[in-house]
Amino acid sequence: MSLPGIPSTNNTWIIFVVFGCILIYNLVYKVTDYFSLQRNFLESSELTLYEIEKKSKERTLIFNKVDSIKKLNSSFPNDSLYLNIKIKLLKETTDELTEHEAKFDSLIQSYEVSEVKYKNEKTFLVHDLLGSIFLGIVGLVLIIFGINKLQKNQTIRDAVLYSDYLKLKVRDPFCQSCGMDLRYDNKFDNNSNYCSFCFDGKKFNHVNIEIQEFRNLIEKQLIIKGFTVKQRKSKLKEVNKLGRWIQKFDWES
Ligand SMILES: [Zn+2]
Repeated sequence: MSLPGIPSTNNTWIIFVVFGCILIYNLVYKVTDYFSLQRNFLESSELTLYEIEKKSKERTLIFNKVDSIKKLNSSFPNDSLYLNIKIKLLKETTDELTEHEAKFDSLIQSYEVSEVKYKNEKTFLVHDLLGSIFLGIVGLVLIIFGINKLQKNQTIRDAVLYSDYLKLKVRDPFCQSCGMDLRYDNKFDNNSNYCSFCFDGKKFNHVNIEIQEFRNLIEKQLIIKGFTVKQRKSKLKEVNKLGRWIQKFDWES
């Protein structure tokens, strides 16, 4: 049974909200990614810059060493006795300088490479981030729209179930909540599809109740009224086919 004006399912709006949440999650993920890239680069470049500074100081020291050896060499006469020693000393320090230069250059180069790589990655991430921001906004709209719809549906459902339902011309001989024959309800107001045990004229007497819990309540009433076990069983079996519960199942499916 479906009541007029009540949407039979909320699935579309639930999908809206879930999809919106995924898009927002994606945005948060991308923002974190962007900042962690920046932080990693700053941390690693700080280390490299420290190394470069250290190497540059070492280089100055080696330069000074070469200079002082050259000066020392010039102060000795150019005869065969000193020549070999002079050449050897100079060669050692210049070799040291060359080796140092090579290391220094590769350090600079690796720094430049990582900087270029960082800039490329950053550009890519910024583009990606812009796309994600756009999708995030779409996600936010979906969530707001979805929640708004869900709330609206809930309001419609409440209104129809609790008051507008009274105005329906449809009349059922059995209470659409517990299955009781309405002819035997002394307090029945002739104005709804529910008996006085279930409905007080404006709202249900047992709200937020699960069907099994409600069946237990009905069984107690049936026992009081002297129904046999067999009769009770067949009555209780029919409860989930009644309007109130069908509507609840429709809604929750
Ligand atoms: Zn009832």
